[in-house]
Amino acid sequence: MGPPGAGKGTQAKTLAQKLKLPHISTGDILRQNISQNSGLGQQAKDFMNKGALVPDELVTEMLAQRINQPDIQNGFILDGYPRNINQARALDEMLKQRNTAVDLVIYLDTSEPVIIQRLSGRLVCSVCGANFHIENMPPKVNMTCDNCGGKLYQRTDDNAETIKKRLQVYLKESSPLIQYYNQRQKLHSLSADEDAEIVLNKIVDLAKEYRDSYKV
Ligand code: ADP
Ligand code: ZN
Repeated sequence: MGPPGAGKGTQAKTLAQKLKLPHISTGDILRQNISQNSGLGQQAKDFMNKGALVPDELVTEMLAQRINQPDIQNGFILDGYPRNINQARALDEMLKQRNTAVDLVIYLDTSEPVIIQRLSGRLVCSVCGANFHIENMPPKVNMTCDNCGGKLYQRTDDNAETIKKRLQVYLKESSPLIQYYNQRQKLHSLSADEDAEIVLNKIVDLAKEYRDSYKV
């Protein structure tokens, strides 16, 4: 978890590849639904463009369907959910029914100037969803994905006004999750202002430490 622009998507995708686990991003699933113009997409679109949260019932139902698929047997990297206490309780309940629980919550602590710089220069692949950045992680070929050759685009919610709103929503709705997971001894904080590679190494170390302690 962490504010918009913390690098959740970038880090979660790479971590999922490294650990050979599926990456489940509620933001990505919502954007897919919007581009396919599904019923869910139509319901979610206005909330997302305003920088507001999509109603809990919609997102929670969407997540419940996703984690019913067989590929999550060995675990998964969850990105963008929960975003408020209500969703955190729903997640705990969903996992409990499957005799499992959240292992580790990684909080990417990020300062406001870094957030604004990252979001205003972010580019996303329209095909595979990979993230790039105009300055920090430029693609090799202009507006083209290094991984799959897909066309890159700027998210409609990555504009100054919506970014401001998303930050407000984060502070009000999502930041109480820090305390929620801290109380449950799940929370691990790290500074995410550094370059993506440095942050990734810190996350991988945390994940390994956790796995090793779990094996004993
Ligand atoms: P970011 O973390 O950079 O804001 P995301 O792709 O995670 O980007 O989310 C984009 C938007 O999708 C959010 O502003 C919100 O409208 C919606 N969204 C994603 N996940 C959730 C969620 N768990 N609950 C409610 N809305 C969500
Ligand atoms: Zn791509």
